[in-house]
Parts: sequence; structure tokens; C-alpha cells
Amino acid sequence: MNEKPPPPTLPPTIVINKDFCLFHKGRIQGERYTCPRCKTQYCLNCALKAKQEGSLCVKCKQLIDL
Ligand SMILES: [Zn+2]
Ligand SMILES: [Zn+2]
Repeated sequence: MNEKPPPPTLPPTIVINKDFCLFHKGRIQGERYTCPRCKTQYCLNCALKAKQEGSLCVKCKQLIDL
């Protein structure tokens, strides 16, 4: 018996594109906030929330500068 194993199902690649907010892990809606250091974009709402909570940029750990 030499059955081939089923092809591995790769998880869908999470494309970090300009429309992806790393705070809520979804598509950016409404106004945007751009990290001044790494230029990652977030929803403005998420950025405001992150600032209140003292969270940092997910990518470069820069303070949210709003
Ligand atoms: Zn950043
Ligand atoms: Zn968001």
C-alpha cells in the first residue's frame, strides 16, 4: 500500500495589507491611524482605544501617538 497522504491544508495566509487592522484583526473601517514609525495602519477607533489602554503598536511597539 502506498497511498499518498492528503495534501496538507494550509491555513489561509493572513495578508497584512493596508486594510488590515492588527488591533481588532480585521478590515480597517472608517478613519485610519498610521503608526509614525512603521507606517502600519489601524482603525482610528482602535488606535484611540489602544492609547487609552496604554497599548503599543503591534508591529514596532511604538506608542500610539494621537
Ligand atoms: Zn508601528
Ligand atoms: Zn481596528
